[in-house]
Amino acid sequence: MPFENGLIDLRSDTVTVPTPEMRRAMALAEVGDDVYRDDPTVNRLEERAAALTGKAAALFVPSGTMGNLLALMVHCAGHRGVEVIVGDKSHIYLNEVGGLAALVGAQAAVVPNQPDGSLGLADVVAAIRDEDVHHPRTRLICLENTQNICGGVVVSPAAMAATRDLARRHGLKVHLDGARLFNAAVALGAPATELTQHVDSVMFCLSKGLGAPVGSMLCGDADLVAEARRYRKMVGGGMRQAGVIAAAGLIALEHMIERLDDDHVNARRLAAGLAGLPGLTLENPEPQTNMVYLQLDPARGITGPVVAEALRGDGILLDPGPYGFRLVTHCWITPTDVDKVIDGFHAVLGRKRKGQVCEG
Ligand SMILES: *Cc1c(COP(=O)(O)O)cnc(C)c1O
Repeated sequence: MPFENGLIDLRSDTVTVPTPEMRRAMALAEVGDDVYRDDPTVNRLEERAAALTGKAAALFVPSGTMGNLLALMVHCAGHRGVEVIVGDKSHIYLNEVGGLAALVGAQAAVVPNQPDGSLGLADVVAAIRDEDVHHPRTRLICLENTQNICGGVVVSPAAMAATRDLARRHGLKVHLDGARLFNAAVALGAPATELTQHVDSVMFCLSKGLGAPVGSMLCGDADLVAEARRYRKMVGGGMRQAGVIAAAGLIALEHMIERLDDDHVNARRLAAGLAGLPGLTLENPEPQTNMVYLQLDPARGITGPVVAEALRGDGILLDPGPYGFRLVTHCWITPTDVDKVIDGFHAVLGRKRKGQVCEG
């Protein structure tokens, strides 16, 4: 489907606008005051999210950042100064405004993300504190799946199980930042529970590849979600007739999960079409999900902003780094759009390829 504004927007999958079916469901949603638990649409969404992740309960939150924050608050349970093990390329560490420090009162114990998105078990073991009057206490390990900065890679169920086993041996909990959980599940060809069975809590976003306008879900056992509900109120995330937005989330879970495979196919098509362009290196030549990361050769003197500006003329929106891009496919990007983007890159960087057919 073409984007309603006619643009080809590869900046993120957060740019997805609601589908016509979502807009209809939003207009007709049955609602109530969700702080009183009176909103039947929110209640249904929470039940559905819990079922899909194999957890006892779920909580609808305005954003993924808030979902992660509430999970961190519950797992750290007011013990200020505790440590949370996070990947050095994780969203929680890099892109949540330091909420772990500022709002949870915990500090990050940072270990390197491996190229496959996992955390090395030896690194995690080394980061776990032993009991000593000088040491903070370790509480939690956070994983991210798909791992965004590692290339939208799928952290394997085996790696997650190994992390879970390690956590159990040390009395730690595991939280999953699953902003793109269903991209990972679809790429594996498995239900999401294949991944979420290994964690104590999981946040996933409705507002990214699933196309809903607003919202994320935090899922876990009943006690965790009950505590998270209190913290959600504390940070101002208690919403009233939230069924208006939850209605779109229900459509997202019903109709937008399986089609994520189309986005993955489009990402591979895009990578294949850009491969071999002079001065362009693909960081993930065979994308596992919906992201293509690439670098431009600084020696050629063509910067990211120059490329972005050139393609803007063709109605293509890109989010440039100084010499790199993350290109993200989503439900409003068609194979034809992908081919236009490939043509745009070839026009700026390479030999002309107009008319050439791209398969893959
Ligand atoms: C987008 C994202 C989040 C946070 O979601 P927001 O709704 O933008 O707050 C968390 N983790 C990852 C990996 C993300 O990509």
